[in-house]
Amino acid sequence: MEYKHFSHEHHLTLSKVQEGHHHQCHGCPALCHPPSSIFACWKCNFFLHEHCGNANRFIKHPAHPEHPIILTPTPTYCSGSFICNACGSPGNSFSYSCALCELDLHVNCAFLPLKVTQKAHEHDLYLYIPSPDSSQETTKEVCKICAKELSPKLWSFICAKAECGFRVHTCCATNEVKPGQYIDDGPEVIDQTSSNSAKSQPEVETNQTQTGFTMDQLNEIEQLRLQMQMSNQLAQMMASFNLANLV
Ligand SMILES: [Zn+2]
Ligand SMILES: [Zn+2]
Ligand SMILES: [Zn+2]
Ligand SMILES: [Zn+2]
Ligand SMILES: [Zn+2]
Ligand SMILES: [Zn+2]
Repeated sequence: MEYKHFSHEHHLTLSKVQEGHHHQCHGCPALCHPPSSIFACWKCNFFLHEHCGNANRFIKHPAHPEHPIILTPTPTYCSGSFICNACGSPGNSFSYSCALCELDLHVNCAFLPLKVTQKAHEHDLYLYIPSPDSSQETTKEVCKICAKELSPKLWSFICAKAECGFRVHTCCATNEVKPGQYIDDGPEVIDQTSSNSAKSQPEVETNQTQTGFTMDQLNEIEQLRLQMQMSNQLAQMMASFNLANLV
């Protein structure tokens, strides 16, 4: 089966990353780890995570309701990179952009969940997207997790209860979803990964292993889903065979 992706001139094939291999995704800064699926052009060593290759060309985002934001394969700025409006970090691969408003988002930032649970706080945290004209805010606030400064212009996760005053960086709230890590599943996936990695391995874990961990987890979940689908279909088939035999 061959696929065509708008960001690459040749057809791509979908295959599994082999054990011991890692490929650099052209859509995001994260590596493609085994046993995840990738779109590949082997001639050019061009790879995309399955989810990066499947990312929609246009999305409507609550952060920018005025215009659809468009998946852009390479930054259109002469510097060759963009600064993400959500996390403030640079990027040089895929972005979701509104050229009219100079809005640019990493693919993974564009798909940040609207709600997460964090072991560092007892309440749910909600994605907070400051309005573009909220920059006059002068009080310096620090992230309750990493204690580094929070920019009032960047996205953050906050507790809905004002008396908690709990506000953190997006990458700190979803510390299994470091910049470069795409996540498009619901918050239940985050709950699972954070509770799994939380108790056994605290802060010492490196980003690298956390990233791999999350991808593996996502993959396991996806495979379970497929397995369930398959066994359901099998059961249905068996049932219809039995019926046919009885008649
Ligand atoms: Zn990717
Ligand atoms: Zn190619
Ligand atoms: Zn970002
Ligand atoms: Zn716009
Ligand atoms: Zn932080
Ligand atoms: Zn709270």
